[in-house]
Amino acid sequence: MRTCQNCHNKWSWKQTFKRSFTLGGGMICPYCEEKQYVSARMRKRGSLIPLIIIPMIMSGNLFFGPSYIALFALIGIIPLYAAMYPFFAELSNKEELF
Ligand SMILES: [Zn+2]
Repeated sequence: MRTCQNCHNKWSWKQTFKRSFTLGGGMICPYCEEKQYVSARMRKRGSLIPLIIIPMIMSGNLFFGPSYIALFALIGIIPLYAAMYPFFAELSNKEELF
């Protein structure tokens, strides 16, 4: 979970959310100020989700005809995805590449 691997303090949703947008270079722990990285496992999962959702919406378009619903669904998913992300984030002490 969102526990710092260095000081074992748990990050709140807000803390994780804010730090999720700092790309590259890791995230600074609010308690011990050590750098934490999103685990490779989490990053892989995170990049898979849009790959599943987008084709689902696209195939919905094929079955029900093109509609604005799909467009709204797509727009709606982005903030939802960003809001859910901190719940699944896993932290790691070092940058994992694989
Ligand atoms: Zn820490």
